[in-house]
Parts: sequence; structure tokens; C-alpha cells
Amino acid sequence: MLKRTLAGLLALSTLSGFNFPEKHDCDKHRQHNELLTQKVEYKFLGPQDRGYQPPVTQIGHLQIDARLRNYAGDNRVKIMQALELMQTVINSQEFQEQVYNFTFKGERQFNQNEGYSNEQIYSQLMEAREILLPESEGIINLDLSLYTPKWWQVTQRNVVGYTNPDSLRIFMNTNFFGKFEPSDVAGNMTHEWVHKMGFSHDFNANEDRPFSVPYAIGYIMRELAAKVAKGAKLTSVAR
Ligand SMILES: [Zn+2]
Repeated sequence: MLKRTLAGLLALSTLSGFNFPEKHDCDKHRQHNELLTQKVEYKFLGPQDRGYQPPVTQIGHLQIDARLRNYAGDNRVKIMQALELMQTVINSQEFQEQVYNFTFKGERQFNQNEGYSNEQIYSQLMEAREILLPESEGIINLDLSLYTPKWWQVTQRNVVGYTNPDSLRIFMNTNFFGKFEPSDVAGNMTHEWVHKMGFSHDFNANEDRPFSVPYAIGYIMRELAAKVAKGAKLTSVAR
């Protein structure tokens, strides 16, 4: 009897693993690793290419409303610089142009784009209606905190940051935060925020994952933020 029950349970759990497609697994595994330290070379269409989309300037100006939980001293300075970079970049024509002209497998598209075009993804980001805060239009809502993995949390030590689907809170690993430039922090925050906007990616690393919306937007942010930090001037989108 016990044997049969166990076998039944086993069969059920195996079955349910297959019956719930990625949505279920994704939500369950959203508390994930964000290894944002790799370098990715993306291809963007330029003005000389067929299908190039020039940036449109009539776009609202995004604000950032950030709750900072435990940032003091140098950490506070760094997170404030990162937030300023994020706001500058996300409101720039250069950011818009790169999102519009992002390519994956030779087409102007993102991987795992939920059926949305590059322009639709950009518009959604600029509306900034987070899944958990759909009424808050035009404001990027962030809830940020630092954490330090304990020595026995082996799998946590290589995690740059993580977030859970049922809360706006974003956790950043002090081991990485301490070494990061503000532009890296801006890229990491943006990646996590794009999850809050409803986009996901494969749990395990693979060659297409960097082209998912969270990864690609995070990397675009990091690259442009690094340029701004070095003194480059971006063109602000009109209010
Ligand atoms: Zn992610």
C-alpha cells in the first residue's frame, strides 16, 4: 500500500513537472542567479541598414522612486550614482534607438519577447506599469536592499542579485556590489526591474539567454551608463 502510494506520488510529481509549462516553473524559480558580469556583443541596426528605426522624441519623462533599505556610506553614494545613471540612460534617445534596433538571430527582435515588437517593449518600459503596481505610470518603482550570503550558502555566493515575483524588492549581493562600478549596478537594477515589468528568461545559462529582454536591456543600460560615467552626453527624449 505504502509502496503504491509512493509510486503514485512519484508519478504525479513527474507528471506535474511536465504539465505546467514554463510559466509555473519560471515563477517558482524567479528567485534566481543574475550573473551580469559577462561581456556580450550585440548587433544593432544602424541608419545605413534596411529596417532601421530612428528614435522618436515625443515620449514622457520617466522618474525613479527608489526605496533604499540598508545603504550607508560609500554604498549609499554608489547606489545614488547608479540611480542617476539609470534615469539619464532610460530617458535618452540613444537608449530608445538601441532598443528599437536590437537584433536577435538577424531580425529586429528580442529573444523571449512575449510576442511584443521592439517598439512595444520600449513603450511598455516607458509606461513603467510594474505587474505589481499597474497604476503607477511613468514611475520606475524600486525597493532595494543589500544582503551578504553566509559562508554556508554556497549557491548564493555567485549570485549578483535576485528578486521574487510576489514583491517589488530587489536583493543585491554585497560581494558584487562592493566591486561594481555604478554603471554595473545600474545594469543589474535594470535587469531586475525588467522582470517586474513581466519579462523573463531561461533559468539556466545558454547562448540565447543574453538576448532575452531582462538581460539585453540590462546590458544596454550598463554600456550606456558606463559611457555617461566617463563623461559622454546623451540626448534626452523630449518630455
Ligand atoms: Zn533575471
